[in-house]
Amino acid sequence: MARLSLLSRSIEGQVALITGAASGMGRATAHLFSDEGARVAVVDRESESISRVVDEIRNAGGEAQGFEADVGNAEAIKGLIRDVTQHYGGLDILINNAGISRPVRIDAEDYEASWSETLDVNLTAHIRLLRESLPFLEQKGRGRVVNIASTEGVGAQPNVSAYTASKHGVVGLTRAMAVELGQRGVTFNCVCPGPIETGMTALIPDKSKEKFARRRVPLGRYGDPEEVAHATLSLVLPAASYINGAVLMCDGGLSIQNS
Ligand code: NAD
Repeated sequence: MARLSLLSRSIEGQVALITGAASGMGRATAHLFSDEGARVAVVDRESESISRVVDEIRNAGGEAQGFEADVGNAEAIKGLIRDVTQHYGGLDILINNAGISRPVRIDAEDYEASWSETLDVNLTAHIRLLRESLPFLEQKGRGRVVNIASTEGVGAQPNVSAYTASKHGVVGLTRAMAVELGQRGVTFNCVCPGPIETGMTALIPDKSKEKFARRRVPLGRYGDPEEVAHATLSLVLPAASYINGAVLMCDGGLSIQNS
């Protein structure tokens, strides 16, 4: 009897599309996947910052191509998947990472506009990207989708209700798709980061971050984008073939601390 089967921990040669890859966790994921041998589609809203990341990856010896798209726009998503699959000849891994957070109180005048924009980018985009990608993801019987949710996907804090609703939606969508698509050879998982040092948290003063982390995070600090990228990588490996519908907390223990 063979000692082990041939499940591998390599994504060498696989095509990975990462949204929001010009900054923060998306950028770290693009770099890490490229270092692991993947061919990376760097997707974001703005050409200059996309080019910066593509150049960084190429200068490090990796293979990357930039694609400018607003994932909140249905037509843009159709064009994006067409362009990526034409360029690389397929798609193996989809990372739904792009997200926005707009603090807004429930009685604010612009609440509905903020709700719509947040849901479009943080949740509806995921399902649109999946629907366009599915024919490619299921082709080889080993497609991988990872959605980046948040600790806001399992808990809540005030004045970000649209964000919280969108991230709870991402967790629900992950589970729904894991159940629906398992038999089509595509796994569907999500990562819930806690507080991470990225563009999204850049405006929070260091003192406030330290105070929050000391009080709320058992590890006592904000996380690094690279730490989340490794959690994401662990879910897309060929060897992760029986992980489906998982909600992986990557939060330094924040979500389980009661006191
Ligand atoms: P970030 O702001 O550094 O990066 C987000 C990227 O998404 C940016 O490059 C931005 O241009 C891109 N983006 C936003 N809207 C887009 C759109 N419509 N189309 C294409 N690209 C778009 O922030 P980040 O913290 O790295 O965020 C990545 C994900 O992690 C988000 O889904 C966010 O909700 C989630 N998250 C962040 C934290 C945190 O503490 N930073 C915690 C939990 C979850």
